[in-house]
Amino acid sequence: MACMPELGSVPAGLRGLLLGELPGIAGSIDRENRVPDGFLERLREEGAFDLGSPASLLEAVRLASRSSPAVGHLILIHGTAWCRVRGLVGEPGIVAVSITEPGGGTDVLGNLETRAEPGGGGRYLVSGVKVFTSNALYARYFLVLARGPGGPTLYLAERSDSIMVEPLDLTTLRGAGVARVEYRAAEAVEAGTPGKGLREALEAINLGRLGYAAIGLGIAEGALEAAVRWSLEHKVFGKPLADYQGPRWMLAEVALEARALEALIREAASEASDCRVDPLKAAMAKVLGARLAQRASWIATQLMGGRGLSRWSLTERLSRDSRALDIGEGAREVLLDFIASRVLKGG
Ligand SMILES: Cc1cc2nc3c(=O)[nH]c(=O)nc-3n(C[C@H](O)[C@H](O)[C@H](O)COP(=O)(O)OP(=O)(O)OC[C@H]3O[C@@H](n4cnc5c(N)ncnc54)[C@H](O)[C@@H]3O)c2cc1C
Repeated sequence: MACMPELGSVPAGLRGLLLGELPGIAGSIDRENRVPDGFLERLREEGAFDLGSPASLLEAVRLASRSSPAVGHLILIHGTAWCRVRGLVGEPGIVAVSITEPGGGTDVLGNLETRAEPGGGGRYLVSGVKVFTSNALYARYFLVLARGPGGPTLYLAERSDSIMVEPLDLTTLRGAGVARVEYRAAEAVEAGTPGKGLREALEAINLGRLGYAAIGLGIAEGALEAAVRWSLEHKVFGKPLADYQGPRWMLAEVALEARALEALIREAASEASDCRVDPLKAAMAKVLGARLAQRASWIATQLMGGRGLSRWSLTERLSRDSRALDIGEGAREVLLDFIASRVLKGG
């Protein structure tokens, strides 16, 4: 992986943590569906929750995702929200983003039942149920979309007894702290312009889409590394798998598409302003990233034969996690429709 350029700079200590220590505990994070408190603290100390620019955030997400896409996701979701809430909170803490409701995540407004009532002194009381809130297990702060007096608005609540967090037992991104969250008149402040909550949430989601592409890139790199190592070591009919043309072409396909994806993410990240990214490039990168991650993890599994299917192994984890990339932060079909609408307008 040494020949792949970086998307942005990541502090050396954090790079060491994500590439050195994380691969050793990624399996237990997956099994336990939880990141240990000690490792969260190490991430915080090494600056994972206050990365200076979108490019640095995306690079950290990519590095983590080579072994633990769940930890990449954790860093990403916090990073997309941190841009908005940094100036509103007294003390730092992990942020969760609560938009999706039980009725469905694509039609956000059609399903938005969570409400915010004025609570006096500029405060609001948020009530409702959200599902698939990532980071909720670890979060100190919750960025919530709710219907307020001025229409859909983003609110910021701090963890309290009025916020009930129930972990979800998903097959994918285990450890990303995904939960059902019930807000029972939880105290909150406005975190955006009244009535503009959906547009502001979409700004965070666009950066999240680019981040999903970075997760996909990390998964592809992790899978490629495992497949290369295995192909060089494992012999079939007296010669290494890497000497057969079929596996060679598979490895080449992943390497070249990873390079193309990396270039697209880099271009979109370099144009980011104030954590806002081009929605078209973010959508394109996300669709490509999901496809590449799924193909690369399929190839690694295939080359490793039955061993690639071992429960809790790297290849099995990368395959399961790659599946989420076509659903979270906007379903693949919705993104393809959006891309098509721009293509049809000549964009
Ligand atoms: C691992 C994970 C983490 C997540 N983290 C968060 C989070 O932190 N915060 C948060 O608020 N939400 C989060 N989500 C929710 C995510 O945003 C939604 O899953 C996503 O928006 C899709 O919504 P849905 O699952 O309710 O599917 P639905 O909206 O019910 O859609 C179901 C399916 O219908 C199809 N479909 C939908 N619309 C169209 C269309 N217009 N044209 C064609 N086909 C269509 C797609 O195939 C789609 O997958 C997360 C989800 C996952 C899986």
